[in-house]
Amino acid sequence: MRIILLGPPGAGKGTQAEFISEEFGIPHLSAGALLREEAKRKTKLGIQIHSLISVGNLVPDEMIAKLIKLWIETNDPKEGYLLDGFPRTIAQAQLMKDNGIEIDAVVEINIPDSEIMGRLLARKREDDTEAIIGNRIKVYHSKTKPLSEFFQSEASQYIRIDGLGSIEEIKNYIIHKLRNT
Ligand code: AMP
Repeated sequence: MRIILLGPPGAGKGTQAEFISEEFGIPHLSAGALLREEAKRKTKLGIQIHSLISVGNLVPDEMIAKLIKLWIETNDPKEGYLLDGFPRTIAQAQLMKDNGIEIDAVVEINIPDSEIMGRLLARKREDDTEAIIGNRIKVYHSKTKPLSEFFQSEASQYIRIDGLGSIEEIKNYIIHKLRNT
């Protein structure tokens, strides 16, 4: 099972990814976590990544695509994988295809913009300040949202869910849908 999780920041992708990953026995790759790890190492690449994350901008497409490809090759996930936070642009989705990274299902969790700010401010991550969140919402709408349409014709199963429901309700719905994939 090869799955992509889509949705705005704060929609609950990370939370649901843990459940899905456990249910289907597939590794969960968080693009943001992968980038934060690299940034923490303070390598030349890490410093570059940190300067982009800290203002809420995306890192260059080729850079993240290379990190994801490397992760898949190193982990060799035979039963599949769950990608959370990648792809985030149409160009990344295209790079993904070109590199033979295939997808069986897309899960899109949605919440309104008005909900994002409060949820992220409560999380208190370094890039969770009002100004940075504002930029991330803008980036989401201009760069990531168009992926919904892109994947509707690409993935055999496209699951949409309202992220305002309870964690349990959302989890049960997604797992039920994925079981029937
Ligand atoms: P997240 O943990 O998904 O909220 O991501 C945190 C930050 O990492 C984002 O605001 C971006 O700066 C960066 N990031 C995460 N995933 C990607 C991606 N696929 N492409 C470019 N930048 C990304």
